[in-house]
Amino acid sequence: MGYETILFDIDDTLLDFKAAEEQALSWLFQDMGVEPSLSVKNNYKKMNQGFWRDHEAGLLSRQELLDNRFRLFFEQYEREVDGPRTEARYRHYLNQGHQLISNSLEVVENLSQKKDLYVVTNGVSATQHQRLKKSGLAPYFKKLFISEEMGVHKPMKEFFDIVFAEIPQLDKEKTVIVGDSLTSDIKGGQTAGIDTIWMNPQGKEAMEIKPTFQIKKLTDLYQILEEF
Ligand SMILES: [Mg+2]
Repeated sequence: MGYETILFDIDDTLLDFKAAEEQALSWLFQDMGVEPSLSVKNNYKKMNQGFWRDHEAGLLSRQELLDNRFRLFFEQYEREVDGPRTEARYRHYLNQGHQLISNSLEVVENLSQKKDLYVVTNGVSATQHQRLKKSGLAPYFKKLFISEEMGVHKPMKEFFDIVFAEIPQLDKEKTVIVGDSLTSDIKGGQTAGIDTIWMNPQGKEAMEIKPTFQIKKLTDLYQILEEF
C-alpha cells in the first residue's frame, strides 16, 4: 500500500527558482543600463507576480505575458525595449540557473528507487529541460509534464487529465503531488482528486486551500511516504 506515484513541482520545490531568477535579472538589468538594486528587482517581481496571477486566473495568455512583461517593466525606467527579444535574453540567462534546493538531488535519487516520479511544472519547455538536466535531476523522472508543451497548466483539471492519461496503470488513490504553491500545486491536486503535500519551509498558514500534508524540508517526505 501507500503512495506509488509522486508528481513533483520543480520551482522552489526541487530547484531554487529564486536564486536563478536573481542572477538572471541582475545580468539583464545590467545589460539594459539599469542598476540591479534591491528595489528595482522587487519592483520587477511585484509586477511579474501580478502577471502570473492574471495568467493563472485565465486573464492573460502565457505568450502575452512573456512578450510584454519586460517592455512594460523597462518603460518605467524610460527604456524602450523589444519585449520578445528581451524575454529571450532573460531566458538565456535563466536557463543557466539550476541551483538545487538543499539536498533535493539526494532525496529524489532515493525516492526514485521505490516510487515512480514525474515532473509537473508550469514553465517554458526549453528552460525546464535544460535546468533539470544540468542539475542532475532529470534521469530520476519517468516523464516530464511541462505546461508549455501541453497547452494547459496547473491548477487546471485538463493539465492533470493529460498527466493521468499518459501514466500507465495510474492509481489516483496512490498518487500524490508535492509542491510549494497552494494556488497551482495544491489546488490543482485537489481538483484532480489526488492527495497533496505542501512544501512550506517558512511555516505559513494555509488559509482556504488545505493540503493533505505539509513539509518544511524535502527529507520530511520519507516519513509521509513510508507511512501512507
Ligand atoms: Mg513551485
